[in-house]
Amino acid sequence: MDGFENNRDITDFFEELLKREALTGAIEGIAKQIVGKGENSMTSRQREVFDSFIQAYEKNNHCDRCGNGNVTCLTDLIFIADYELCPMCDADREKYMRD
Ligand SMILES: [Zn+2]
Repeated sequence: MDGFENNRDITDFFEELLKREALTGAIEGIAKQIVGKGENSMTSRQREVFDSFIQAYEKNNHCDRCGNGNVTCLTDLIFIADYELCPMCDADREKYMRD
């Protein structure tokens, strides 16, 4: 997960998904653990589940405009889930529509 190794962002990301009750199964427990104890508390088995969850989430939440080229953090992916565009492309589009 190059570029997504920001611990604070991972915590924010999972806090938001837990709040939305968007997680089920093993990743739900792992998310709670990350929020409570930090990313480094994961075992290697948990990290495998975590990695494949992030990969799938990234794949399912793809910015229509930049193909996630402008995505800089995990919480951007939640923004895409809501608006179909990443925050940067959404801001560009609004600017374009105003002009
Ligand atoms: Zn984008």
